[in-house]
Order: sequence, then C-alpha cells, then structure tokens
Amino acid sequence: MSQLNPETRNLIDGRLVPASSGATFENVNPATEEVIGVCADGTKDDMEAAIAAARRAFDETDWSTNHALRGKVLRQLHQALLEAREELRAIVVAEAGSPVALTYAVQTNAFIDAMPYFVDLAERYEYEKPMSGIQFMGAPQRRILRHEAFGVVGAITPWNFPLYLNLCKLGPAMAAGCTVVLKPAPDTPWCATTLGRLLAEKTDLPPGAVNIVAGSDHRLGEMLTTDPRVDLVTFTGSTATGRRIMECAAPTVKKVFLELGGKSANIVLDDADLARVLGMAGMVCVHGGQGCAITTRLLLPRSRYAEGVEIVKAAFEKFPYGDPTDPSRLQGPQVSRKQQERVLGYIAQGKAEGAKCIVGGGVPKHLPKGWYVEPTLFVDVDPRATIAQEEIFGPVLCVIPYEDDDDAVRIANDSIYGLSGAVSSASEERALAVARRIRTGTLSVNGGMWFHEDTPFGGYKQSGVGRENGLLGFEEYLQVKAIGLPG
Ligand code: NAD
Repeated sequence: MSQLNPETRNLIDGRLVPASSGATFENVNPATEEVIGVCADGTKDDMEAAIAAARRAFDETDWSTNHALRGKVLRQLHQALLEAREELRAIVVAEAGSPVALTYAVQTNAFIDAMPYFVDLAERYEYEKPMSGIQFMGAPQRRILRHEAFGVVGAITPWNFPLYLNLCKLGPAMAAGCTVVLKPAPDTPWCATTLGRLLAEKTDLPPGAVNIVAGSDHRLGEMLTTDPRVDLVTFTGSTATGRRIMECAAPTVKKVFLELGGKSANIVLDDADLARVLGMAGMVCVHGGQGCAITTRLLLPRSRYAEGVEIVKAAFEKFPYGDPTDPSRLQGPQVSRKQQERVLGYIAQGKAEGAKCIVGGGVPKHLPKGWYVEPTLFVDVDPRATIAQEEIFGPVLCVIPYEDDDDAVRIANDSIYGLSGAVSSASEERALAVARRIRTGTLSVNGGMWFHEDTPFGGYKQSGVGRENGLLGFEEYLQVKAIGLPG
C-alpha cells in the first residue's frame, strides 16, 4: 500500500493554513492504537473565517452562475483524485480502520469514479426553462422556472465512510454552484484535509468556494448550524446529532438535509433458498458493522427458524476479521475505544434483556491491539428489545422469528428508523409485494444492489430528511425561482 502523505492543514479562503492557535490534534489508527500523525485543530476563529470566505465567494464571484467553470473545476478535481487514489486509499485504511478490500468499492474508488456524473450535472442541467402560458385576470402571462444555487452550505460528515461521504456532499454542492464549508469528523480528518490540498493545488477553484475546517471539537460543526450566513446544512451522522442540528437551525430557518442512522431489516420469506440467502449473513459485520444501511435485524420465518439459524451461525463463525490492511479481511476494528465500549455495552444489555448470544460477544483474544469486537450473533431476540431497536454500529446481528408475511412487515416497520432493508423469496413478485410495504428509502430484493451515484439515497422516519446522490440529491442544493412576465 502507498505511503501516507496526508495534508494536515485546513483550507480557508483558498489557502492551506495551520490552526489560528497553532494547535494540532492527534490522528490515531484504530487497528494499531498508534498515533499516525496530527492535523490542524481548527478554532472558532478559523470556522468564522471559513464561513465569511464561503459567503464572499458566493456573493461576489461568478461561481454560483458560471456552470462551465464549475464543470472545469470538477473535472480537474476528478483528475487529481485519480492521481492521488492510492494515497487516499492508504489514508482511509489508516484513519478509519476500513478493510482495504472495501476501498475498491464505496470507501474510495466508487465516488472518485463518480465525479464525471457531477461534472455532467454542473454543465448540462437545465437551470432555466419556460413553463406553459397562463391567463391572469384575463391577461396572458408567460412564466420561467429557474433553479439557482442554494447558497452557502455547511457540510458535516462522520468517520465511517469518510472519503465517500465528503465527496458525495462536495460533488453535488459544487456542481450546483453552492459554496461550501466542510467539517469532517475528528476521527478521520485527513480524508477531508487531503481533498483540500487537491482543490487548492490542482484546480482553478476560486478562493473561498470550498473551505475545509477539521478540528477536535464538535462545536465547530455547531457553528455551521447557527450562523445566519449559512443557508443550508447537509449532515450525515447519528440521529441524535441530527435532532440537535434541526433545533440549532430553527432560529435562522435554515434548510437542513439529514442522512441519519438505521436499523434495517432483512426479511427472509419462507420459500427462500436459505443456503444461498444466508450463506453471506456475516456481511453485516463488514467494516465492524459501521455502516448506516446495514441490515442488522434478520427476520426468519418460525417454520424454518432452526434451519436458518444454523446457516447464519456457520457464516458468523468463519467471517474474516482482523488487520484491515490484509485484503482477505472484511471486518477491521471499531473506529475508537469509545465506539468499541459502546458496542460492548449494547452486547451486555442484549444478554441482560434475555437474548441468546451464540457467536462472539466480546473482544477477540488474538488481537490484543486495536479496537476490535468479535462478530456477534444474537438469536431469539424480542423485536422490542433495546438491541433490536437501537443502532449499535457494531458487528452485531439480531435474529428475530416471525409468523407470516404480515407479521414480518409489522416487525420490520416497528422502528424509528427507515433507511434500508432486504427481502428474499423464491418468487420475485412476492418479495416485491413485501418490499413495497416496508417504509424505508432503499431496499434490496433477492440480493439486488441499489447503490450508485445516480440512485437517490436517504431515509424515511428518523433516518433522515432529503436524498443524497442522483438528480434528487443534486436538486437539494438548488433553490427554485418562478418568474412571471406579461404577454
Ligand atoms: P455523529 O452524529 O456523532 O457525528 C457526525 C458529525 O457531526 C461529526 O463530524 C461530528 O463532529 C459532528 N457533530 C457532532 N455534534 C454536532 C453538533 N451538535 N452540531 C454539528 N455537528 C456536530 O455521528 P458519527 O458517530 O460520527 O457517525 C455515525 C453515525 O452516522 C451513525 O448513526 C450512522 O448511521 C450515521 N451515518 C448515516 C449515513 C447515512 O447516509 N444515512 C451514512 C453514514 C453514517
């Protein structure tokens, strides 16, 4: 793997700068617990300067209206990302603890390769179009519908898929003509600051159009949610923080666009080929289960419950976890000691509430360094139990028996979340009929994959507001203006 060559400075108003206080904070590799370097610890003054720069770039340059310039800058960014791909891959593995195998898909490659999609949107979107003529008080009227850049965007991202999540906010926001202040998670700052270096050194981005402020203090993010100069907050993270962001954004009536947590259900219908469907059940442990759309509740029909549990148990017992730099491992560590303790806390609670833990449940003895948790399988879980209701964000699967299709739908929908899910059946028609009744933003039927840069992604209920990716995701960053003209 490539040497680490991260950028450790923030990008503010076109310049790569240390923190105004000179302070730095440590970046720790979750697989080794070693400090791998430092990053500028952005201050309130830095965030203040970044917001001012983004406001100025929006109001005083032609970035928001010059579609050709934005297409050019995004094309330059794509080229720079391609050249830095191996460095970025090494950073994702080192700071997020992501298995390197995942970096060939969503963790690194997917959204580098998706950049031309955003170039295309920037350049080809129909920003202004005529509407049909109308009559008003007997006089004919013409109408024009315009889509304009929303304004200054505060983008706040988590640590689990850091490069992807930074890019899937920057790509459409820049394409739409917004200016941006990006605030990454403190656990994974370099996936953002290194993008800052590429933007500053390899593109013709106007100063202030994108600013990146990393820091150890979550309150930096909060400044974006309260400042009247910020027009829109796009946030990916926990539902708890999402609620707080909505509250903070209320006094300035900011648009908030939220991608939050999940507790998705995988419904296996009683006619499904269990060996095929459940043979891969260990995949819920991928990246330590630190994915919002992972199906962490497995619903098995009572009539085939024992048979299903045996297959899942075997899959869990052989799931490859350990050193994330080893391409054969699909599960690495949890991102921090705090997250490891949180997951272990949920496992203890699951046992205390009466669920049966039949695989894992602790810290692997053969991995003394790194914040690992064993692939953990709970069976006979009450659908109302804490571990079946709350997002654990760890390598933990809850198996829940159900009586018939209606019961499965009821259990699947009995959640504050509505992000994703899966349904399997020998009959595609029957699986689709169940899928249509599940209240979630994405669904896989018989193993089909929905994830792509042009697929809108987001949640029902408390899994979020709005959609990321696709045309809908791009249009989140646009305002709509209707203009009336006589004649
Ligand atoms: P988090 O909510 O703790 O933090 C996310 C980001 O918000 C970080 O950058 C953090 O510094 C910042 N933040 C914290 N408090 C803030 C505040 N009051 N105001 C503004 N910003 C604040 O989430 P996390 O632990 O970093 O990430 C895990 C969560 O992210 C999980 O719940 C997961 O489901 C969710 N997630 C959702 C999606 C999705 O697309 N729906 C994708 C990935 C992760």
